[in-house]
Amino acid sequence: MIDNTSFALHVLKDRCTGCGLCADSCAYNAIRFDEYPEIDPSVCRLCGSCVQNCPAEALQIDTPDTPTAPQEKTTGVWVLAETVGNALAPVTKELLGKAAVLAEKLHQDVEAVLVGYGIAALADELAAYGAKRVHLAEKAELAAFVEENQAHAVVEIVKECRPEILLVGATQRGRGLSARMAALLHTGLTADCTELDIDTASGLLLQIRPAFGGNLIATIKTPHCRPQMASVRPGIMKAPERRTSLKAEIIRHELPGFESDKRIRLITETADATGGGTLGNSRIVIGIGRGVKSKETVDRIRQWATRIGAAVAGSRAAVEAGLIDARLQVGQTGQAIAPELYIAIGISGQIQHTAGIAGAKTIIAINPDRTAPIFHVADYGWAVQAEEALSELGI
Ligand SMILES: Cc1cc2nc3c(=O)[nH]c(=O)nc-3n(C[C@H](O)[C@H](O)[C@H](O)COP(=O)(O)OP(=O)(O)OC[C@H]3O[C@@H](n4cnc5c(N)ncnc54)[C@H](O)[C@@H]3O)c2cc1C
Ligand code: SF4
Ligand code: SF4
Repeated sequence: MIDNTSFALHVLKDRCTGCGLCADSCAYNAIRFDEYPEIDPSVCRLCGSCVQNCPAEALQIDTPDTPTAPQEKTTGVWVLAETVGNALAPVTKELLGKAAVLAEKLHQDVEAVLVGYGIAALADELAAYGAKRVHLAEKAELAAFVEENQAHAVVEIVKECRPEILLVGATQRGRGLSARMAALLHTGLTADCTELDIDTASGLLLQIRPAFGGNLIATIKTPHCRPQMASVRPGIMKAPERRTSLKAEIIRHELPGFESDKRIRLITETADATGGGTLGNSRIVIGIGRGVKSKETVDRIRQWATRIGAAVAGSRAAVEAGLIDARLQVGQTGQAIAPELYIAIGISGQIQHTAGIAGAKTIIAINPDRTAPIFHVADYGWAVQAEEALSELGI
C-alpha cells in the first residue's frame, strides 16, 4: 500500500465507482488498483489527466495556498536587466519588446530592474528600449556576478514593489538566477519560453514552451503566486527600436536588508575561450554537424570563420563526436541564436537543432544529401561534401 496521504492528488472514495478510467488515462502508469485507485506520488506528475477523465469527479488536486497569493495588489511587467561588459545583453532588449506587448494588454507599465555596480548609465538604455521605470540598486558587493548576491538583491526589490510579471533571459547567467529567485519568492517559473501572451479572460501570463522533446507545445499559467515568472532564450523575441527620446523614472533602492553571501569569494574571472558566451551576439555563425567528420575539416572551417568574421557553433551530434565544445551547441538543449547568417555544414536539420536557429535571418546549408531536412529551412543550399565546398572556397 502506498502512503500518499500528504500528496496533492486524492481519491474521494465515497464517489469512486471503481471504473478504472483514471488508470487508463494516466500516461505515467502512476495509478494502480487495489480496491480503489492508488496513486504513486513518486511517479505522478500531477498532470491532471486522471482528474479530467474521472466521470464521478472522484479525484481532486489540492490548490496550493501560498504566502504570495495574488490577493495583494501587484502591478507592472518587469524585465531583469542583464549586462555584458558595459552594455545591456541583447536578450534584455528583446524582453523589453515583448514586455511592452504584454503591458499594453494589461494596461500596466514596463519596468526594469538593474542591479550591479557602476551600471547607472544603463538605466537610460533601458528607457530607450521601452522601460517606463527603472529600479536601480548599486553596491560594491554586486560588482562581480555572484548568483546568490544578485538573487537576494533582486528579490528584495521585487518583494518591496510587487510586480505582476518578471521576465528573465534564459542565458547562462539567467538560468540559475531565475530559478534561485523563483524559489526565494515562492513562485513558479517557466523556463525557456518561446512565446508569451496574456489570457484576455483572466489576465494571466501565458507561458508557452515546447515540451516532451518538442512534440507538443505547453501553455503554462501561474494563477496563485506572484510574480508570474518566465525565462526566454536570446534570439527568440524581437528587440524594439532604440529611441533615445524615451525617458524613464529611475528609482534607486538602497537594499537595507541586503547581505552578501559570505560563503562565496570571487577569486578570479577568466573569459570563456570557446566563445560560447558570445555566440548569441555573433552576426554570422557557422554550424558544424556530424557530417564534418574530422578535426582537420573543423580546422579548415575555423579558418574560414576567421576570414569572414563568423563564430563557430555545432549540433549535438558534433559535440558527441568530439568535433566541437559542448558550450557551442545550438538547439533545444543548447543555445538559441539569431544571427544574420547561419551556415550549416554537415547538419541534417533535425527539429531539436533547428529549434535553436529559428531566429536566423538567412540560412545556407552545405550537405551532400539533398533530402536532408535542413534544406526545408535553408534559404540557399549547396549539395556537396564539406571538404569539396571548402576547397571550392579556397580554404
Ligand atoms: C531531447 C533531445 C534534445 C536534443 N537537443 C539537441 C540540440 O540542442 N541540438 C542539436 O543539434 N541536436 C539536439 N538533439 C539531437 C538531434 O535530434 C539530432 O540527433 C542532431 O541534431 C543531429 O546532428 P547532426 O545534424 O550534426 O548529425 P546527423 O543527423 O548525423 O547529420 C549529419 C549530416 O551530415 C551530412 N553529411 C555526411 N557527410 C557529409 C560531408 N562529407 N559533408 C557535409 N555533410 C555531410 C549527412 O548527409 C547528414 O545529413 C537532441 C535530441 C533529443 C532527443
Ligand atoms: S476514474 Fe474516478 S470513479 Fe473511476 S476508478 Fe478512477 S477515481 Fe474511481
Ligand atoms: S495526475 Fe497525471 S500523472 Fe498523476 S495519476 Fe493522474 S494522470 Fe497520472
